[in-house]
Amino acid sequence: MPKPDFWNNSKRYYDLKSYWKNLFGVPVHKLIIDAGFTCPNRDGTVARGGCTYCDGRGSALRQAGPLPGAGEQVRQGREFYIRRAQAKKFIAYFQTFTNTYAPVETLRSLYDEALAVEDVIGLSIGTRPDCVPDETLALIRSYAAKYHVWLEIGLQSIHDRTLQETNRGHNAAIFRDAVARATGAPLLLCAHVIVGLPGETRTMIMETAQAVAEMPIQGIKIHALLALAGTPIGSRCRRGEFELMGKTEYVETVCDILEILPPEMVIQRLTADGYRDIFLGPEWAANKLAVINAINAEMARRDSWQGKHCARTQPSPLSFREPPLTA
Ligand code: SF4
Repeated sequence: MPKPDFWNNSKRYYDLKSYWKNLFGVPVHKLIIDAGFTCPNRDGTVARGGCTYCDGRGSALRQAGPLPGAGEQVRQGREFYIRRAQAKKFIAYFQTFTNTYAPVETLRSLYDEALAVEDVIGLSIGTRPDCVPDETLALIRSYAAKYHVWLEIGLQSIHDRTLQETNRGHNAAIFRDAVARATGAPLLLCAHVIVGLPGETRTMIMETAQAVAEMPIQGIKIHALLALAGTPIGSRCRRGEFELMGKTEYVETVCDILEILPPEMVIQRLTADGYRDIFLGPEWAANKLAVINAINAEMARRDSWQGKHCARTQPSPLSFREPPLTA
């Protein structure tokens, strides 16, 4: 499969910035919101303690004191990026913890607040697959009819044994069910995947990537497993019981993944880091630019690109080549 022209970029994958530029014609930026949600995997509803890699601190804003309202957070972020001329339109990103974990009316009021801010053209809502009941999906779909809306669902691994060992509190079937219920234009779905989870081989990681490639999912976020102080993974690393993935292996694995993903799938993220004061490793992950450069260099060395070896078994329900949405 040749590199697609519709990406309109010089990259070897279809990154979110290029996708938004193609769709809206102007730079679009995600504004991160901590709306004060908790997580059913931390508060005892599903489990206690959360995923074994989750620090449970919430955003830096939450650490600093009482949270400003969602609208205020968006307004402040917008002003910052408009002043620096870095963006013209914005997506309000409900990022911290589980952003569908509240009654529908509470969600409606929070999402409305964010969308009411000037130049906000859509939402990105991060959540868990066991936290999207049909009434919540109906609400989110109602926004997708008018705005540009992504629902980001944590998967991390398609392997139930891994999900159990990382205390995710759900299995792969629950993720598949959430995707099956949520899928349908114009709502866009994004899967979160972690590379380097304990006990996972390269084959297992590629099986997760292949599963995502075959589902009706339009975007993906990938990052390496991070060890943070105060988490079970962090403690295991400190005790020497578990080794985090090295940079070369991570870069090669991400390139393998990119090669089998559909070319239409939007790559929303390929790296992550943690709060500096609790970040234990891997050390290389702290330099996100270097990681991206290494991925680009490896793709160039292979003369490869996203989708080069894609063996999609079912078509994506959305064409990313269609005329831009108006939002
Ligand atoms: S689902 Fe997300 S917020 Fe909840 S415990 Fe896991 S990583 Fe933390």
